[in-house]
Amino acid sequence: MKNIFKWRVEGLSTYKIADKLNGKGLPTPAEYKKLQGMKYKSGFNLKSSTKWTHITVTSILKNIIYTGTLVQGKTTTPNHKVKKRITKSEAEWVTVPDNHQPIVSKEIFDTVNSLFEYDTKTAPGNRTVYPLSGKLFCSDCGGNLIRKSVKRDGREYVFYTCALKLKDKNKCSSHRIKEKDLEECILVSIRNHIDRVFDVRNTLKLISGLRLQQSDIELADTELKNKIKLLGEYKTSKETLAKSCMSGIISRNNFNDFSKVYDEKISAVEKNIADLRESIEKMLKSDKDRFSWIDEFIKYGNITEINRNIVVTFIDRIIVHEGNKVEIIFTHRDEYESAISFIENSYEVAKGKLNT
Ligand SMILES: [Zn+2]
Repeated sequence: MKNIFKWRVEGLSTYKIADKLNGKGLPTPAEYKKLQGMKYKSGFNLKSSTKWTHITVTSILKNIIYTGTLVQGKTTTPNHKVKKRITKSEAEWVTVPDNHQPIVSKEIFDTVNSLFEYDTKTAPGNRTVYPLSGKLFCSDCGGNLIRKSVKRDGREYVFYTCALKLKDKNKCSSHRIKEKDLEECILVSIRNHIDRVFDVRNTLKLISGLRLQQSDIELADTELKNKIKLLGEYKTSKETLAKSCMSGIISRNNFNDFSKVYDEKISAVEKNIADLRESIEKMLKSDKDRFSWIDEFIKYGNITEINRNIVVTFIDRIIVHEGNKVEIIFTHRDEYESAISFIENSYEVAKGKLNT
């Protein structure tokens, strides 16, 4: 099952994956269930359930269940008289993340599904997917660059060029760049990026070793306790006020005015408390999965050549400027930025602690 995802990321079409699986004589999910002696029941009728098809492969690749997420309530019966089941809209489904042991990571699942989006736009089933396919964009017209090859003196020259210019020579400009140069430049950039991410990870490890994250949570927790105490004080004051009014110490009008002031204070503190609780919850949660993408990156360590797998893992898009200049937009850039600012904040907190 894991291999199906791996092959897809490496650029194999769903047709080729089906061929490969049939070649290996592996049972399809339906057949597998039969072999296991399970009561065979499937939502749709597969005529040739003993053979893999691009449809069975696609349904596996698109099924979020393999990331460990359970989806329930996809269909419903309107009422007990009508037996027919209807499919609910995706927004109404109930999803339970981390329900069971995942077969693929969320990263790989998302990568595979973004490939589907790209392929439906460009590639017919069997076309070879080059490492950089669909990732190169023209800096001037914003359109795709396409791969071309020419033979000269018996040698083949492969390059990328602006698709718009190629179609209409009065539009845009060539933005031509040699495939070999481009791949070399991308290889070097990815390696540098991995180095930087590696540094970030080490720093993060150091920080968590110093338990600075913990102190952020502790700080918020202390503040939360203070606010809860304050809320209690306001409530007591309001009760005292009500007693004073009843025993005639203060007038009804005065009571109304004071009471209004307290109500405002109370609702402000209540909002504070709710906000603090939310941010503490966020801190606790983010601690765990904020940096999971880093491990996905680090896995590649020292790469010596680029392939489709590496390109889709690391690169969101590449903008090609005139004159052999390229700009690489990496995936997870928001998370990367947030890791950097997290490190900077931790540094500030540490500095503050030393000064006091
Ligand atoms: Zn262009």
